[in-house]
Amino acid sequence: MAAEIQKDRLNFIEEIIERDQELHRNNGRVHTRFPPEPNGYLHIGHAKSICLNFGIADKYQGLCNLRFDDTNPEKEDIEYVESIQEDIRWLGFDWQDRLYYASDYFSEIYELAVRLVQEGLAYVDDQSAEEISEGRGTPTQPGKESAYRDRSIKENLTLLNKMKAGQFQEGSKVLRAKIDMASPNMHLRDPIMYRIRHTSHHRTGDQWCIYPTYDWAHGQSDALEEITHSLCTLEFEVHRPLYEWFIEKLELFPSKQYEFARLNIGYTIISKRKLLRLVQESVVAGWDDPRMPTLSGLRRRGYTPESIRNFCERIGVARRDGVIDMALLEFSIREDLNVRAPRRFGILEPLKVVITNYPDDKEEWLPAINNPEDPQAGTREIPFTNELYIERNDFMEDPPGKFFRLGPDREVRLKYGYIIKCDDYHKDPETGEVTTLFCTYDPQTKSGSDTSGKKVKGTLGWVSTKHSLDAEIRLYDRLFLDEDPGGHEGTDFTEFLNPHSLQIVKGKVECNFEDVQPFDFFQFERQGYFNIDPDSQPESLVFNRTVTLRDNWGKLQPKK
Ligand code: ATP
Ligand code: MG
Repeated sequence: MAAEIQKDRLNFIEEIIERDQELHRNNGRVHTRFPPEPNGYLHIGHAKSICLNFGIADKYQGLCNLRFDDTNPEKEDIEYVESIQEDIRWLGFDWQDRLYYASDYFSEIYELAVRLVQEGLAYVDDQSAEEISEGRGTPTQPGKESAYRDRSIKENLTLLNKMKAGQFQEGSKVLRAKIDMASPNMHLRDPIMYRIRHTSHHRTGDQWCIYPTYDWAHGQSDALEEITHSLCTLEFEVHRPLYEWFIEKLELFPSKQYEFARLNIGYTIISKRKLLRLVQESVVAGWDDPRMPTLSGLRRRGYTPESIRNFCERIGVARRDGVIDMALLEFSIREDLNVRAPRRFGILEPLKVVITNYPDDKEEWLPAINNPEDPQAGTREIPFTNELYIERNDFMEDPPGKFFRLGPDREVRLKYGYIIKCDDYHKDPETGEVTTLFCTYDPQTKSGSDTSGKKVKGTLGWVSTKHSLDAEIRLYDRLFLDEDPGGHEGTDFTEFLNPHSLQIVKGKVECNFEDVQPFDFFQFERQGYFNIDPDSQPESLVFNRTVTLRDNWGKLQPKK
């Protein structure tokens, strides 16, 4: 796989860090942070950022902080704060005692704003939001200076203080940095630092009614934590001059911002705002619906932290945006589960088979290998009886030549059991559906002691009807039918939802599922990887199909 080559090479961030270390910048210290806004659950894109920030810190004996970027009181929630921590821990990273909140710095950040005002570098503007945005100009036309731009320092200080004290209405005033209304960089045209919001904050309550903007809070928070390398996604590249302007004017710790490409994956959306809509509009069952690209969704689907970390390693870190194929994520989980998942028999669509020459009171417990990739995993026993289930699509009434499974007068091996031959079958006279196969087994062909010399091409999975367990099995398909559902202007991304993204079947599984726990994973032989859903009960098992055994993405045309 081409992406694997990247593993041994330094990515561009590592190159920057190694150069900084050669120059003894920051005394060789590396300190990063992961700064989620607690307005939704983490998704696979965040995993890339987490693996990068915590991974870099580990690699260079540095530290990585977790900092909630909780500057917007309206959209933030304690539920998100908790889920984010759970997901980062699950991925395998540890911020130790360095859990911070931008809101912890509200006082310090306010003091810094006062300093900028005192230096004549910030002013209170009474223009409305529309006037401000109009006055900002366009990328090709300079903006217009506000009539309030030249207020005295004294007046600005008084007004800012009153803003903070709650004496003004929302939208009536803002604090702006006084930079350059003609700058070719729109972000330097007197950016807004504070807005008035008479809204309670999930941590600071009603203590504040002015809230700092992202641009004003983020860099200052980095500097207060003495972050050496502040890694963010490419859309912030144009904000970097402002990030540096604040730090320089305030003579703060010189944190440096570096930008890398966001992760995009085909046939899905990776944006908290849009994922929130899927949850709110009940398109999915919740943030942890196994079809969601959230970390909690992937976890419930059966993804392991190792597989996601390997995926993030494989995609690497680049400066150019691109779209990653979902097949690469699935490759990562197959690769991991292939080595670790115990094998079991599970039948998604059962078809009954009667072995007419096998005594109906007899049962044999046959040894089955738990994991051919892992000799330590040993064997288990599975019961062979005169009535079995096989997969419905392992039988065809009129099979083509290349079909090596069961058909009239055809022979197959039942894995770990015997070779059977199909002599007859019954159909439902009304529906035409095949209901039962009647087969004979050859006692000479027992696996492990086959003396028949027979060779058959097909090997099938099976379970004993008497010993098998009922199972609800949830099968997932892509959530969207379009490769870039969020990328069509004028068409809402929900228009591209796949109506068949969840299919629930009533299957049968072998008896060896005692004491299973939610998230335990298995390979159902020849079917794919499955895990136990948290909805599962000992007497009514529920499985999710994590992924099929082979890559379907390349082959399948999306269903229309
Ligand atoms: P969203 O658009 O989904 O809300 P965001 O960037 O607003 O994403 P934050 O909570 O602000 O989400 O992000 C925390 C960190 O994760 C930021 O440093 C951000 O750059 C990074 N991040 C978010 N999405 C991706 C992605 N798709 N790929 C890589 N990094 C990402
Ligand atoms: Mg954000």
